[in-house]
Amino acid sequence: MIIFLENVENWECLYQECGARCCSEGIELTLEDVERISERHSDFFKVEDSRILLKGRDGKCVFLQEDLRCGIEDIKPVACRLLPFVIHEVRYGDEPFIKLKLVVDCPGVGSGKAVDLGEIERYATLFLHEKQELLMKMKEDRDYLKKLFS
Ligand code: SF4
Repeated sequence: MIIFLENVENWECLYQECGARCCSEGIELTLEDVERISERHSDFFKVEDSRILLKGRDGKCVFLQEDLRCGIEDIKPVACRLLPFVIHEVRYGDEPFIKLKLVVDCPGVGSGKAVDLGEIERYATLFLHEKQELLMKMKEDRDYLKKLFS
């Protein structure tokens, strides 16, 4: 289940106004994100506990370019496709859910095109599904991620 904690009608990513604040290091990746991005890049993620996280440079995502654009726009992670929402809470198990909240103080909220909540819901569902599959594999084998990336 996808739960929107807030609503937004229009949004535009004004990354130059906020300095691409959302593109910080540590965005959570799914296994499918890693597979897709690995076809073109290496050394971009780290594993912490049961999470795969984007690496950073000076606190920013490794793929953020000097002009503040995303360097992997066409293959960017599912979590980055949720903007202007970010993940507030995720619960896995029999009745999994993901709660999405708006980015705090985003200058782009209220301007630009109408937000397609259906599309955001599809990406959030994909994130939940891919993450749940990974957790099931890790339940069977606690070292699954370690073995996969060693
Ligand atoms: S992958 Fe692209 S959109 Fe996602 S945090 Fe990095 S620079 Fe930003």
